[in-house]
Amino acid sequence: MIRLPLTALALALLAGCAYPYTPPALSPVATAAPAPAGAVANVSPQEARAPVTILVSIDGFWAPYLQRGLSPNLARLAAGGTSASMRPSFPSKTFPNHWTLVTGVVPDRHGIVANSFTDPAHPGQRFTMSSDQPYWWDEAEPIWVTAERAGIPTATMFWPGSNVAWGATGEGHDATNGMHPHDWQQYNKNVTDRQRVDSVIDWLRRPAASRPRFLTLYFDEVDTAGHEGGPDSPGVNRAIASVDQAIGRLIAGLAELNQPANLVIVADHGMVATSSDRMIVLNRFLDPADYTLEEDGPFASIRAKPGREAALEARLLGHRDHLDCWRKGEIPARFHYGRNPRIAPYFCLAEAGWTIAAKPPEKPFAGGTHGYDNADPSMAALFIANGPAFRPGVKLAPFDNVAVAPLLRDLIGLPPGQGLDGTDRPFARAFKR
Ligand code: AMP
Ligand code: ZN
Ligand code: ZN
Repeated sequence: MIRLPLTALALALLAGCAYPYTPPALSPVATAAPAPAGAVANVSPQEARAPVTILVSIDGFWAPYLQRGLSPNLARLAAGGTSASMRPSFPSKTFPNHWTLVTGVVPDRHGIVANSFTDPAHPGQRFTMSSDQPYWWDEAEPIWVTAERAGIPTATMFWPGSNVAWGATGEGHDATNGMHPHDWQQYNKNVTDRQRVDSVIDWLRRPAASRPRFLTLYFDEVDTAGHEGGPDSPGVNRAIASVDQAIGRLIAGLAELNQPANLVIVADHGMVATSSDRMIVLNRFLDPADYTLEEDGPFASIRAKPGREAALEARLLGHRDHLDCWRKGEIPARFHYGRNPRIAPYFCLAEAGWTIAAKPPEKPFAGGTHGYDNADPSMAALFIANGPAFRPGVKLAPFDNVAVAPLLRDLIGLPPGQGLDGTDRPFARAFKR
């Protein structure tokens, strides 16, 4: 573990000692909206606040978007802090990667193996992005649970899994014997970026004793625009600019509260253009009598119909143009994928930009998606860290996103995690000492 001086300072503050930290001059660039009137009404200007940690996810923010000149607030945070192009975990989908970011283990081990899957231990049930039954989520512990247990208050302004009563037993949604972040919100896409930011700022307006010290914030609009028009669309460029304004609003709100913050801004994956001209139609080489398709798109999860294993394998397995298919136990080791019982027996992965489906599409389409090889450049995710813990102007080599949870543990003062798939080593050059 890399020991951070700020942890000691934060502890000193909690113990009632004088706190020598001066917050950095983080003021937003012109596009940021001002903090709401009355924002500082309850705040003593003399109060020296300990840094908080805010984990921000901009869903689908492909790392090179940062170079488009459309996100001045993010660019300034990157220049004044640490940045990198981050490798997602496989599969490069939203729910598997958000759960990796807060647990530090790969999807194969934390059990959120796709956005949609089944589990032989729960016959007749299917995990979807709205599944909040605790049993889907309990193979790895999210950092807000670890933090709450250590007495560190947490608050999540959306994050996949944050609405789950983590660790609760039984098939229901029972919150009484499970743990949530201290404050959390049921996911609702219609809550505006502004409202999301203002909720975080409002939580930080509380008196010190009940103020969260670890928070999350989630934005979906860049991913949505990427699916609609692909990564080079005007819609994506508008979404980049719009989410950057929300980041500006966050910076302004923190500055008004005189609240130092270590911001860890990440994406879950990148985005690549898709088209009905780049289709892999399974029924051109498979017999529909041999298989069922659990999931299609950038990858396909496939089961043999009873007694049809050999027939399916003969047609399916191996490499063909733009497609590889494996038995789950033979997926190349670098994907770290295939041991979890929730993964179907056969798995196919398309080349980036190609789409797998059983039949040809009914009408032409063009858009964007993700879920491909996590080492493909098109899947590279944004990473920026900025705040009192970080040195300015550090550009790190690409690293795997299993390192983010260990980083967060350092920032909030938790001991190193046991049995995680990543460590904080990639950030050795980034920390102020
Ligand atoms: P994907 O299909 O991998 O692109 O998933 C991205 C979508 O996940 C976004 O459009 C979000 O609206 C949705 N999403 C993000 N967080 C949540 C959540 N906590 N609950 C339900 N859906 C979510
Ligand atoms: Zn996503
Ligand atoms: Zn998406």
